[in-house]
Amino acid sequence: MDTLSVVVRRKWAVAQDIVGLELVADAQVKLPAFAAGAYIDVHIPQHKCAESVVRQYSLCNGPADTDAYVLGIKEDTRSRGGSATIHRDVLEGDKLFIGLPRNNFQLFDSSQKALLFAAGIGITPLLAMAQELAFNQRPFDLHYFARSTECAAFQDRLSEMEHSGHVNYHYGLTPEATDRAVGYAVEAAPSNTHAYCCGPTAFMDVVAAHLRQWIYPQNIHLEYF
Ligand SMILES: Cc1cc2nc3c(=O)[nH]c(=O)nc-3n(C[C@H](O)[C@H](O)[C@H](O)COP(=O)(O)OP(=O)(O)OC[C@H]3O[C@@H](n4cnc5c(N)ncnc54)[C@H](O)[C@@H]3O)c2cc1C
Repeated sequence: MDTLSVVVRRKWAVAQDIVGLELVADAQVKLPAFAAGAYIDVHIPQHKCAESVVRQYSLCNGPADTDAYVLGIKEDTRSRGGSATIHRDVLEGDKLFIGLPRNNFQLFDSSQKALLFAAGIGITPLLAMAQELAFNQRPFDLHYFARSTECAAFQDRLSEMEHSGHVNYHYGLTPEATDRAVGYAVEAAPSNTHAYCCGPTAFMDVVAAHLRQWIYPQNIHLEYF
C-alpha cells in the first residue's frame, strides 16, 4: 500500500500566506512513524478535473505528536494548483490521499550542537528537527529568517522549545545583513558540527558558503523545495 486515506482534522492560519493542516488516518489505522526531516506526497484534487496534482510537504510535528501529520503550506502566488487549492478549497473534514513518509534530510548523531537554518516556508522540516532534538535533550541553535514576525510560522511551537535550544529570529534582513547574521552564527563552529538548512536557493547558497569555511562538507545537509 503506497497511499493512505486521511481526513483534514484542522486547518488554520500559522502565518501570513501559510496554513497549517493536521491530517489524521481515515480508518482505524495508525499513521506510520517517521523521523524529523521527512515529507509526504499530498494528492490534491482539482476542481472540475479528474486528475489530482501531487505535491510534497514536509512533516512539522515533533516525536510526541503521533496521531496526526502536521503540515505547513505556503500559498505560491504563481501556483498551478497545489498550494492554491489547499488554501482555497480544502476544508476541515475533507478526505485526501497521501504517500508514505520519505526522508532525504535526516538528523545525524553528534556530540556537537546542531546548527539549523531556515528561511520562509523552509522552517517546516527544521521545526520537526528542533522538536526532535529538544525531545532527546540534544543541543541546537535554530536560526529562522523571515520577512516579518507576521510571516514567521509556528511561533507557538518554537517558543515551547526555547528552554531546550536557542531559537533566533531574524526579521526583514537585507541580503547583506543576512550574510552577516549567518556568518556570526557559523563562526568558529567545530568541524564535526552537523548543520541543516532549508529555504530559498539564494539563502541556502549563502548558508552553505559560510558552513564550508568551518565544517566538513559531508556534515552540511540541505533540503531543496
Ligand atoms: C521535499 C519537499 C518538501 C516540501 N515541503 C514543503 C512545505 O513544507 N511547505 C510548502 O509550502 N512547500 C513545500 N514544498 C514545495 C511544494 O511541494 C510545492 O512545490 C509548492 O507548494 C508549490 O506548489 P504549487 O502547486 O502551488 O505551485 P506550482 O504550480 O508547482 O508552481 C510552483 C512554481 O513553478 C513556477 N511555475 C508556475 N507555472 C509554471 C509553468 N507553466 N511552467 C513552469 N513553471 C511554472 C512558478 O515559479 C511557481 O512559483 C516542498 C517540496 C519538496 C520537494
